Amino acid sequence: MTEKRAITIARGDGIGPEIMDATLKILEQAGAQIDPEFIDIGEKVYLEGNSSGIPDHAWESLRRNKVFLKAPITTPQGGGYKSLNVTIRKTLGLFANVRPNVAYPQFIKTKHPEMDLVIIRENEEDLYAGIEHQQTPEVVQCLKLITRPGSEKIIRYAFEYARKNNRKKVTCFTKDNIMKLTDGLFHKVYKEVAQEYPDIETEHWIIDIGMAKIADSPQDFDVIVMPNLYGDIASDVAAQITGSVGLAGSANIGDQFALFEAIHGSAPDIAGKGIANPSGLLNGAIMMLVHIGQPEVAARIHNAWFRTLEDGVYTGDIAKGGASVGTNEFADAVISRLGQLP
Ligand code: ATP
Ligand code: MG
Repeated sequence: MTEKRAITIARGDGIGPEIMDATLKILEQAGAQIDPEFIDIGEKVYLEGNSSGIPDHAWESLRRNKVFLKAPITTPQGGGYKSLNVTIRKTLGLFANVRPNVAYPQFIKTKHPEMDLVIIRENEEDLYAGIEHQQTPEVVQCLKLITRPGSEKIIRYAFEYARKNNRKKVTCFTKDNIMKLTDGLFHKVYKEVAQEYPDIETEHWIIDIGMAKIADSPQDFDVIVMPNLYGDIASDVAAQITGSVGLAGSANIGDQFALFEAIHGSAPDIAGKGIANPSGLLNGAIMMLVHIGQPEVAARIHNAWFRTLEDGVYTGDIAKGGASVGTNEFADAVISRLGQLP
């Protein structure tokens, strides 16, 4: 039996605690060898006067365990509060954001049933480097930062990911016809790194037409790598055309640390009602199990989850007015299908 792996866990705000409890219950019943260590971050901590939302004991836990399963966090609106997500990404050096976007024609109506792509977004540089200036009272400026090492790291990660996951093509999106130096460097490094992977097909699109192609024929893509801001927008578009924000998980990967989460926010409009879909966080947790070397448990959970939806057991966001179950009933339905053949 695998030794239990210590994992740092934040139950989050809004629907966070409900979907985290459901997810952890499924993991436990599936036999995941994890030892959860809970930290308190987010809204409550902000409102106690810590503007980063992350107390020292939370950083200590993260540094010790190196693997983080995070429920959605609310950043209070208005002045003084930093985005906790950006702070965590930068502090832990999580340079890659990995977002699989798969269509589920078996249970969600879609125009693109063949869609199965992975967006790999650079997570630290570009317009998110936080270099903003006020030049005059009426002129402000934000600098776009692209480095060779940063680009090489994310692009190599994309090609390695493709190889490891048996994917055939890595596409690159930039706007290097306009930003010849910054996006030009990203594209140049892409072409250099690509030569080391002759087994993988390559392709480059200017971001605007690339996005249009994702919207029109997402099935033509496999792995797509791009700078930070484009990746932010492209991954929301891709998630939306798969059918529901409540389904997808994402991984943020660094050299030493890794963070797994749902792609959606804390959904305060439905918090406390016990109706949220735990699937996004569960899919994040499944990516985590693969990352920590427990792929069999990951596959067992994924199969049970898929079965549950195939059997027509839906939370409200999927049922869209039809019969639906609550968060806990959904989790129990997944648990009762663990161990069934796919
Ligand atoms: P954030 O700024 O935190 O990303 P957001 O504005 O993107 O938040 P979400 O919190 O993601 O918004 O919610 C968007 C909509 O989707 C809301 O109506 C919410 O109720 C719904 N939603 C989000 N997650 C889920 C879920 N897990 N189950 C059901 N509905 C959800
Ligand atoms: Mg959002």
